[in-house]
Amino acid sequence: MKEFLDNKLFRYLSFFLFLNSAVLPVYSSSALAAWAIKTNGDLELRTKSNTNLEAYFQKGNQIYGDRFWVDFPGELKNPRKIKGNGPIKEIRLGKPNKGKTRLVVEFKEETYLRPLTWRMVGVDENRWKIKLFNPKNKFKKIGEGLVDKRRQNVRANQKSINKKKSNYDYLKLPEVKQNKFLVVIDPGHGGPDPGAIGIGGIRETDVVLEVSKIVKDLLSEKGVKVVLTRKNEVDLDLPPRVSFANNTDADIFVSIHANASRGKRRDINGLETFYYRGWRGRLLAKRIQQQILRVSPGSPDRGVKQGRFYVIKNTKMPAVLVEVGFLTGRLDARRLEKTTHRKRLAYAIAKGILEYLDKVG
Ligand SMILES: [Zn+2]
Repeated sequence: MKEFLDNKLFRYLSFFLFLNSAVLPVYSSSALAAWAIKTNGDLELRTKSNTNLEAYFQKGNQIYGDRFWVDFPGELKNPRKIKGNGPIKEIRLGKPNKGKTRLVVEFKEETYLRPLTWRMVGVDENRWKIKLFNPKNKFKKIGEGLVDKRRQNVRANQKSINKKKSNYDYLKLPEVKQNKFLVVIDPGHGGPDPGAIGIGGIRETDVVLEVSKIVKDLLSEKGVKVVLTRKNEVDLDLPPRVSFANNTDADIFVSIHANASRGKRRDINGLETFYYRGWRGRLLAKRIQQQILRVSPGSPDRGVKQGRFYVIKNTKMPAVLVEVGFLTGRLDARRLEKTTHRKRLAYAIAKGILEYLDKVG
């Protein structure tokens, strides 16, 4: 039950780049109640409770500028267009299929956007928020209806308000000095060594490779140089990973793994981060552990620990080994099989790394 509540408060929307073809056969009225793009560039939405949203981004072409859209269940009555200002060309509300509602934000051609950093956050059970841009010049609010209107009689209300701030913090990745840092990310295992195998055959190598690649993208966007010890399913022993890192002038080394429990016990879940020596390694481990816990509500904190793993013992820079959950655990495995959760973990790891670099570097 606790997990269910936490999940609701910590709802982040999955972010798709492809159109999902599933269409609900139920043609109820639109779940979109109100929307606004505020002067700070945040899109805010109010929906019916427990609505599932799907959000998409598409790069512009000769016909359209860059577009961001959100699909809601339920059919819109009156399709319409609203003129934009600042970086926004136009807002369109339409029904892409019978029984659906689509809100499209089309940007002007010259707008520079960073959709990879976008995260839709559930503020409470019927409100959503996503930062689309940082206005350079004055941007006039556009919207329809009251996005801030709260549902009465929601006991979790006070709790949501308390959570709201921390949810919002999560949208921001810290800034660090550009082109100053080099980070080695080591996706564990690979090739003939799949690492841990979990519930339903989920493989550690697949999970950690995807997470690592997203971490690389996110850090690169922040001006941090990143090298991966492996980019695909290759067999890579531990010594070459270490010598590779030691031959670069890397500031830090982060090895990403997922766990398995002895006897594949489904009741064992949790996250842990290891370092081998030094306050730097310990600080890096702490920052990462803190962030990955935030995106894994209900999964136990197994702590920051000293560990004698080869890759962190033999690398010469501050080094940590992150275990992002148990592939054999009921709670963790269900999450780790989803790309949406892998993205959250990658975001959290990137955030922990940036916090560390900002403080120590
Ligand atoms: Zn492993």
